[in-house]
Formats: sequence, structure tokens, C-alpha cells
Amino acid sequence: MELLFATNNKHKLNEIQHLLGYKIQLLCLDDIQCKDEIPEDYTTLNENASQKAWYIYNKYGVNCFADDTGLEIEYLNNEPGVFSARYAGPDKNSEDNIIKVLKLLKGINHRKARFRTVISLIIEGKETQFEGIVNGTILTEKHGDDGFGYDPIFLPEGYNQSFAEMSLSEKNKISHRAMASQKLVRFLLNEI
Ligand code: IMP
Repeated sequence: MELLFATNNKHKLNEIQHLLGYKIQLLCLDDIQCKDEIPEDYTTLNENASQKAWYIYNKYGVNCFADDTGLEIEYLNNEPGVFSARYAGPDKNSEDNIIKVLKLLKGINHRKARFRTVISLIIEGKETQFEGIVNGTILTEKHGDDGFGYDPIFLPEGYNQSFAEMSLSEKNKISHRAMASQKLVRFLLNEI
């Protein structure tokens, strides 16, 4: 079975394909020649994931799913949240985003945070949502070179390595996207 994941982010595509095994072959936006800037007009992860999936489904008529993820930092009233990608500005620069977070938390001991992912799946016009959460803390400086986004400053609860110090398979066992994806996979394997 083929299923479109509304992304061109190869990190994310590989993470989820790795969890899916080979029963379901994921396609990405490039595979359907979609170059659109997919709208994300809302202020919640659930609404944005839903909007993106419906946009693709309505325009291309393919079964698909879309995700939206945010880093929610307690001390910052759950910011950056839906603004995680563009927290430091519209060019979506991860390095700048990290610098901004570290600056805002400078000298602050309360560093609890979580990553939250929402996946919206649309099969034959019927939508189902899945959520995944990983709790942790924001480090005071960057640790590790792997991963992407905020990985170097996120220490998952119960671990002594940041997401950027873990291998992809270690991160995949516990990550927010893994949790949401596992729910998606369980659902899909029951459906097909
Ligand atoms: P998206 O909705 O998956 O595109 O995520 C929005 C933003 O959240 C990304 O641009 C990253 O800055 C951040 N993000 C999402 N997932 C992760 C992750 O697994 N590690 C670190 N940062 C992430």
C-alpha cells in the first residue's frame, strides 16, 4: 500500500518509514510534484495538521497524512508551540531558534518542556487524528550533532543524552513523532 506523507523533510520521512516497515510505502510531496506552500493558518497543532491533510486530499485525491509538531516549554507558556519552525523569524533557521530559546531561559531553573506531534490521517475522505508526546527538559547549551531542529537542547525524561546525541533508532523508540506514528501504524495495519 502507498500512502502520501505531506512533507519533503527526509529526516521525518525516514523516521516514519523506519517504523512502518515495508507493508506501507510512504510517498512524499516531491513524488506527486506538489510544490505548493501548504497552508498552516491556525494556532493549534490539531487544526494545522488537519488543514494540511485536507488540502492535499482535496487537491490531489490521494490518501494521505500530515503532521504538525511543536516544542512546548512550560516557562514560556508553551511557546514556541505552533511557531516552533519560525520562532526566531521567517527563514526557519534552527540555529537561531535554539539561540532564542537559550536566551529566554538564561538563568531560569524551570526548564520543563515537551514535544507534541499531531498526525491527521485521511483515508477515503475520513479523518482520524493521533497524538504523541515526549516530556523532557531544555538543556543550558547544545549537546550533540545529530537530528534536527531543537534536538541538541532537548533532554528527554529518564535519559542522559539529548535527542541530538541519540542514534535515530534510539530516538525513534521514544520520540513524540514515534508515539504518534505508532498509533497511526497500529490503526493502518488494522485497516488494510
Ligand atoms: P513540524 O511541524 O514537524 O515541521 O515541526 C515544526 C518544528 O518543530 C520544526 O521545524 C523543528 O524546529 C521542530 N521539531 C519538530 N520535530 C522535531 C524533532 O524531532 N526534534 C527537534 N525539533 C523538532
